[in-house]
Amino acid sequence: MSEQTRELIRKAAVINAIKHDGRADLQAVLGNLLGDAPELRSQAKNLIPLVREVIDEVNSTSIDKLHELALQNWPAELSREKKEEERELPPLPNVEKYKTIITRLAPNPDFVLHLGNARAAVLSHDYARMYRGKFIVRFEDTDPRLKKAQLGYYEKIREDLRWLGCEWDEEYIQSERLHIYYEIANALVKSGAGYVCECNSEQFRKLVNKNQSCPDRDLNVDLQEKRWQKMLAGDYREGEAVLRIKTDLLHPNPAIRDWPAMRVIDTVKTPHPRVGSEFNVWPLYNLASGVDDHLLGITHVIRGKEHLTNMDRQIYLYEHLGWEYPDAVHYGRLKVEGMNLSKSKMMKALDTGEVTGTDDPRLGTLAALRRRGFLPETIRKLIWEVGPKPVDVTISWDNIDSLNRKLVDPVAHRYFFVPKPELIKISGLPRTYYVKLPLHPQFPEQGNRTLEVPAVDGEATIFVAKADLQTLQNQQATRLMGLFNLNQLTIESNELRSRYVGESTASGQAPIIQWVPSHNNVRVEVTLPDATSMKGLAESGLKLEKVGAIIQFIRIGFCRVDQVTDNLVALYFAHQ
Ligand SMILES: [Zn+2]
Repeated sequence: MSEQTRELIRKAAVINAIKHDGRADLQAVLGNLLGDAPELRSQAKNLIPLVREVIDEVNSTSIDKLHELALQNWPAELSREKKEEERELPPLPNVEKYKTIITRLAPNPDFVLHLGNARAAVLSHDYARMYRGKFIVRFEDTDPRLKKAQLGYYEKIREDLRWLGCEWDEEYIQSERLHIYYEIANALVKSGAGYVCECNSEQFRKLVNKNQSCPDRDLNVDLQEKRWQKMLAGDYREGEAVLRIKTDLLHPNPAIRDWPAMRVIDTVKTPHPRVGSEFNVWPLYNLASGVDDHLLGITHVIRGKEHLTNMDRQIYLYEHLGWEYPDAVHYGRLKVEGMNLSKSKMMKALDTGEVTGTDDPRLGTLAALRRRGFLPETIRKLIWEVGPKPVDVTISWDNIDSLNRKLVDPVAHRYFFVPKPELIKISGLPRTYYVKLPLHPQFPEQGNRTLEVPAVDGEATIFVAKADLQTLQNQQATRLMGLFNLNQLTIESNELRSRYVGESTASGQAPIIQWVPSHNNVRVEVTLPDATSMKGLAESGLKLEKVGAIIQFIRIGFCRVDQVTDNLVALYFAHQ
């Protein structure tokens, strides 16, 4: 081994050790080394003892000494590593105003989280951590009628958040806080800032569109209090009365003028999943959300710019109550090419049975991405890339795939899989073949897999993918990966036949295809992103993989193991 190679290893080990508290890791060092010096790939296996030796040496050196070494020899590397680590989110506004930064995620448990929500979750969580603050999860489940919560989704959202690595410090459920909203509503009525409006919505809209107040607005407070009590007592039916917040009737946006804060809901007809028919008066979004942001001490509200109008509405509420509105960061829309992230569309697809569940691979839910083998780190990286930018961003699948590929490639075991298998009879074999192939070509320490091709009287059978038959028929010679070479394929009395033509890899001209033993294999079903499936056979070693493992089918792509039984391994396709 040349001195130059040793020096390259030392560099990779020192830099890696500096990054990880003085402990360099064999796999990481090897990965970085081979990334920097691809010409060493062919001898990766022989390099391991030397890499181990250098790592032992480096790991027994003090971290100060390592820094000194790196600064002397590879200053550029050191600053490159630093840059990656120091990559940060842009600062939040006005942090100096607050003792503790408190952020929140406020999902409605009427569905699971999707990529769009993940942005709010990751940014809110990571900002709270960045400022050593607090991250709150608040379930906004105060619409028992149209955006009705479902019991199972509270826990599914918690699962999504844990998976994303967004642990929360406190949790609130709005349907447990109705008494708080009633108190606030009461205060608003008493101060004349709120009034109970008996107009039907059409009548009301006509008036405010002309900047006119409805006849209820100027009734005296006593009468308003009576109406409010009447609402609580259940003496109004659904649609007969709403509590409105007084705003500026000249506001340029008619949707902001005297917005509705509380309404009557017939919970006998549409009971709430958690509190049933106990309450008949429910807050609308802007009252519940606005009140809670203040009462829970939220300092920074981080959300999509579609909420800008809601902020304008809530500022009136805050003014009536003498509160100060939190700092708000509104980011632009996040689109993913070829994927619909609209929650209502996804819910509709689920209701109509167009998709099979919230983790159907066609959906942009976190559950679907998780099932397909995307890692939470990929989602986090993606969100850090777009950050809280106010402009709209479109991400391509290629971008998401490539982030994920970088993370799974070093750990995914490699296997042969042949979709639509075709049996080939091979003659002229000199012997039975046992081949040992690495589970990962760059990291031999991940172990091996063994495949057997037993020869009887110089004959053997194997499976290849139907898609490769044409290659086998057209080429003078084709190489079976890790095995031997075949001559041109012929079809004789409906049998596919070929002949062994040696083991040499010297020519390098022959196309290389994967194959599967004809006796020792397992049935495989891969669910594709469009929910169709690809069926075939894989080498039997695949059965040793655990559910959740991400593997690579050579020449096909990365897949996540979804289910393993004795005669079938089911997987989900992630990307190529
Ligand atoms: Zn009215």
